[in-house]
Amino acid sequence: MTRLFDLTGKVALVTGGSRGIGRSIALALRAHGAKVAINYATNEMAAEETVGALGGIENAIMIKGDVADPAVGPRLVEETVKAFGKIDILVNNAGVTRDDLILRMSEEEWDTVIDTNLKGTFTVTKAAIRPMVRQRQGRIISVASVAGIVGNAGQANYSAAKAGMIGFTKAIAKEVASRNITANVVAPGFVDTEMTASLTAAQREEIMKMVAVGRTGTPEDIAPAAVFLASDEAAYVTGHVLTVDGGLVMH
Ligand code: NAP
Repeated sequence: MTRLFDLTGKVALVTGGSRGIGRSIALALRAHGAKVAINYATNEMAAEETVGALGGIENAIMIKGDVADPAVGPRLVEETVKAFGKIDILVNNAGVTRDDLILRMSEEEWDTVIDTNLKGTFTVTKAAIRPMVRQRQGRIISVASVAGIVGNAGQANYSAAKAGMIGFTKAIAKEVASRNITANVVAPGFVDTEMTASLTAAQREEIMKMVAVGRTGTPEDIAPAAVFLASDEAAYVTGHVLTVDGGLVMH
């Protein structure tokens, strides 16, 4: 990977960093010099493989934990700091979907998506901001979705969670700007990962009609946006929502 920015000496925590977009962001941050802690929920093998790809335990650790559990955020930050001495970059990437039309959507489907995507972002960010404030420097990057900007039928829970992440980011960007901490959102469009693997060919075709560049995204399309927002050079970018969607949503 061409090195765009220098993250040497930085320490990053990527939630849901074992697979898909989070894995690609973790690899890109590492390729630019950062040491990386990846969090995952259940899939141990994928996490181990990613730690290997990150160059082993000198440069990367894996931390199991469900971000929907409020006790997990503080532990993720604690273990990152214990392993690498500090935390400079937080990527709130862990996310799930439970799609259903509103008339069929259960309270459980609602809660699971809100608790993982939105509450998880709150608890992990709250834990990470404390040491960032103390060191007067930090980068918070949350992976939302274009669904949080324009909404998506069948995804009322997910669209609400992702819109919530955008509002949350703008609020904390204002709170911590004076401490040299930025908070931004990366909003991907349609990206080929396990999350989108269950969509039917017809559903894909419908989405593709709206993607200006005419192809689905890859996790590698998303990662450079996170690297940029994590860099020192992005110090003047905060409270921003960066869509990386091949022109699916233009606003
Ligand atoms: P993915 O391939 O399903 O990977 C999800 C990652 O999150 C895995 O590492 C998974 O770990 C972890 N995870 C899931 N639930 C978790 C929990 N409760 N606590 C901690 N970790 C958890 O998903 P993806 O497509 O890469 O999506 C990553 C992010 O991008 C999500 O926030 C998603 O909403 C967003 N996004 C995706 C797309 C898309 O088209 N794919 C578009 C817009 C936004 P395990 O393997 O252990 O479960």
